[in-house]
Amino acid sequence: MRRSGSKFLRSDTDAAYEETLRRLDDQRLLRKLHPVCGESGHVRVHDVDGRALISFSSNDYLGLAHHPKVKGAAIDATEVHGVGSGASRLITGTHPVHLLLEEAIAEFKGVKAALTFANGYATASGFATAFLSRKSIVILDKLSHACLIDSCRLSGAKVRVFRHNDLDKLEALLRWADGQPDKDRVVIMTESVFSMDGDLAPLAEIVSLKDRYGAQLLLDEAHGVGVIGAQGRGLAADLNLTDRIDYHMGTLGKALGVAGGYLAGSQAMVDILINKARSFIYSTAPPPILAVAARAALEIAKGKEGEERREILRGLMARLAEETGQPESPAAIFPYQIGDEAAALAQAFALQESGFYVPAIRYPTVARGAARLRLTLTADHTCGQIQALTRAMADYAARHGAV
Ligand SMILES: *Cc1c(COP(=O)(O)O)cnc(C)c1O
Repeated sequence: MRRSGSKFLRSDTDAAYEETLRRLDDQRLLRKLHPVCGESGHVRVHDVDGRALISFSSNDYLGLAHHPKVKGAAIDATEVHGVGSGASRLITGTHPVHLLLEEAIAEFKGVKAALTFANGYATASGFATAFLSRKSIVILDKLSHACLIDSCRLSGAKVRVFRHNDLDKLEALLRWADGQPDKDRVVIMTESVFSMDGDLAPLAEIVSLKDRYGAQLLLDEAHGVGVIGAQGRGLAADLNLTDRIDYHMGTLGKALGVAGGYLAGSQAMVDILINKARSFIYSTAPPPILAVAARAALEIAKGKEGEERREILRGLMARLAEETGQPESPAAIFPYQIGDEAAALAQAFALQESGFYVPAIRYPTVARGAARLRLTLTADHTCGQIQALTRAMADYAARHGAV
């Protein structure tokens, strides 16, 4: 590469970037930002041309992101607390609203303590710096979220992957890990509801295996909380396994409609995080208004209104399953498998032309050749919208000979 002094010429590096982007585009793997704006929630949206679209893409499963009480709490808190938080919680002092939120999360999860982070991704990396080292072994479900994989890489831990939900493979890896000398800990990582497939982990079986081999378990309930079980407490609580899980992880940005992530468990676990989670220590605290909003959302999610919203959501999930002839899903995520990246993009584009916003999920979010449309439902959808979408999908399939 040509250099001018010690600096790269901008045009050279830009040309290299453009080449990379062209290659991605050739493989139909290029990602672009689509400006889309919600009118009164994440369901009715419009694009820059003002075209109205019905969106099936948001993880705001209970429709809380635009809930009047959540918005009202954030607006009132803005008047009192301002917007930014100023610094890390260890530097400026901890705002009491963060502690109140963490108390509410711990109570909700049925554990002693919780710590919040800026988002789920930062939560996972905080976990890694606090609890994992080169001497750790992490055993990870193949379909685990990128933030779990990245956190393992960050830690330098030995990582082994088991085929999705394959208990035999998991046990084989636990047996192997058991025989490794000089390890400080063995941690299994999995999700309760898988983000791109919408299926559940066999949690009871995983818990008995981890107990048998003396391993620990981090359970990421990003898509379970708010949706699964009584009060939306998630899969662990629903199966009565709360106390047998070492690290309960989740996000405040999905069913709770705000932003943030958390780890919940023992007080000692939280105290270690405060001392060692670098994404907590070296990052400006989330704005207090978000903590206030998240607490308001949690109140709604676990209360009577949350129950009603889950009931509506379950009705819509059953309706979508019926319309598409798919088996009923335990969660509000519906992968519509296509395979080929170009075909998935083409169908997403055609749906957009028909007034529906549905994301095409491609490598590296899913495996190569496993591209899909990922439909998500929220309590704010209607049966009519689901019917219209499935009709548009069936029309497209009829025209293009897809299945
Ligand atoms: C979205 C997601 C995260 C990350 O949470 P954010 O708050 O969005 O950063 C973590 N784990 C899973 C399974 C997710 O789907």
